[in-house]
Amino acid sequence: MTQQSSGQSSRQPGGERSGPAGGAPAYTPILQRGADTTSYRRLDLPAPEVREALGRRFLEVPGETLAALADTAFADISHYLRTSHLEQLRRIVDDPEASGNDRYVATDLLRNAAVSAGGVLPMCQDTGTAIVMGRRGRHVLTDGDDAAWLTDGIRSAYRRLNLRYSQLAPLTMYDERNTGDNLPAQIDLMAEGDDAYELLFVAKGGGSANKSFLFQETKALLNEASLMAFLREKIASLGTAACPPYHLVVVVGGTSAEATLKTAKLASTKYLDSLPTTGSEGGRGFRDLALEEQVHQLTRELGIGAQFGGKYFCHDVRVVRLPRHGGSCPVAIAVSCSADRQAVARITAEGVFLEDLERDPARFLPDVTEESLAEAGSEVVAVDLAGSMDDIRGRLSGLPVGTRVSLTGDLVVARDQAHAEIKKRLDAGEEMPDYLRDSPVYYAGPAKTPDGFASGSFGPTTAGRMDTYVEQFQAAGGSLVMLAKGNRSAAVARSCGEHGGFYLGTIGGPAARLAQDCITHVEVLEYEELGMEAVWRVRVEDFPAFVVIDDQGRDFFTDDSGPVLQITRRP
Ligand code: SF4
Repeated sequence: MTQQSSGQSSRQPGGERSGPAGGAPAYTPILQRGADTTSYRRLDLPAPEVREALGRRFLEVPGETLAALADTAFADISHYLRTSHLEQLRRIVDDPEASGNDRYVATDLLRNAAVSAGGVLPMCQDTGTAIVMGRRGRHVLTDGDDAAWLTDGIRSAYRRLNLRYSQLAPLTMYDERNTGDNLPAQIDLMAEGDDAYELLFVAKGGGSANKSFLFQETKALLNEASLMAFLREKIASLGTAACPPYHLVVVVGGTSAEATLKTAKLASTKYLDSLPTTGSEGGRGFRDLALEEQVHQLTRELGIGAQFGGKYFCHDVRVVRLPRHGGSCPVAIAVSCSADRQAVARITAEGVFLEDLERDPARFLPDVTEESLAEAGSEVVAVDLAGSMDDIRGRLSGLPVGTRVSLTGDLVVARDQAHAEIKKRLDAGEEMPDYLRDSPVYYAGPAKTPDGFASGSFGPTTAGRMDTYVEQFQAAGGSLVMLAKGNRSAAVARSCGEHGGFYLGTIGGPAARLAQDCITHVEVLEYEELGMEAVWRVRVEDFPAFVVIDDQGRDFFTDDSGPVLQITRRP
């Protein structure tokens, strides 16, 4: 049981602060967060013990409380989103200037949120790397093993819930094993403040994390024309593999490369929304609101939209300017994806508080019928996956790139590790396995299957990571129809043109809805020991996709018939 509470901190807009002993020198923090406006719920956990010692009041936080908080936080962020994120999705649906594809993707993501909020299927099959950042006040006492207790709670959440284990332990430089519990987590703990323990919990998917970039620039970038040209090129090159619409972040400056990237990560969670909006001679960081709007407008004009063309490549933009050494100018670009998973928490003398996420995302859903979805996303062509690979290719052949299709039949699922294993077999002179010759391949890796369900959350992974295998696999008769998310390299389009292959893009993000509505059967075919990276056979019904690359080598993202996209591809 929980009860509502504001739980807000009394943190005030930063400025110069004096040290704990009163005699310490004043200093200017770089990141001066303002008042906390988060809405919290109180968790039903014992409040910390308040103890008096040395004439002061101390809070004693048991390790079990940290573990229980982490467990609840990762359960919440795996299933619930912020209300503001859902409002932004609904705004796309209601915007007459949004493209049909924008509205189709936004509606599907809202439907996905409603399924996920049932608490069984997580919102995305990639349930992320667990990241915790904590700031423990000087009057808050623990047994000192905070990272171990937090890890205990994370382990409990990933084991207890239908989440995915994505972490690989390096046994040697080249051999890896899945750790089997999604650990280790990234835990960064700091000492700051007085009477509270503040925490930020993030579940960061691999595709989303891969869209974090550092550029070592110079003073020459610091004028409007140069900066905007630079941002236009770099933002377009992000592509769609991290499931837009994005929450986009740009950080300019920073006292080190890692400080710049860390600031970008924090800003992508909205942790730095309360920064000042002007600089100071002391070197404080600030949000540039005018540039945020300018960059947001730039993202609308790119034409990439919410994955398949349109206006909504990004929900919003944060631009943070930091102080820098005169000889360097680091710039970071990062995103938070459609699985916008984070929550802040506070432990105070009053209790344990966790950010209150939206429990009823269905209230943001428009009245949806299959007809209205079809209308939003253009005409749909039903494609039966029965018969031989030639039959399937025959049904796809002649459909213009950009055509929305609805797939029914069997797919074979294989991703990074399975591809590496199959490549070894081909290199050793073996044949392409029949399953990759006979069925379309879906690049994906499922979360755990809940009791009573045919499938766990099972959305697509980033196609670009498999690009280097395509020419060899297609030449050997495999991977002639591929299904995943994001754009592909020119080499893939060439290979499809040469071998008569197709790449179908599906919407990245709505993994819970796909599992509930579109996947009727899942079985392991090979490499069971690879866990979620095994080769699976799945049966799908009305699985949504778009023809992105056709058997003539035409690419929706670069062909004249597609949106404007001259995207610089990144694997
Ligand atoms: S929404 Fe897309 S980018 Fe985000 S975690 Fe899921 S698969 Fe990865």
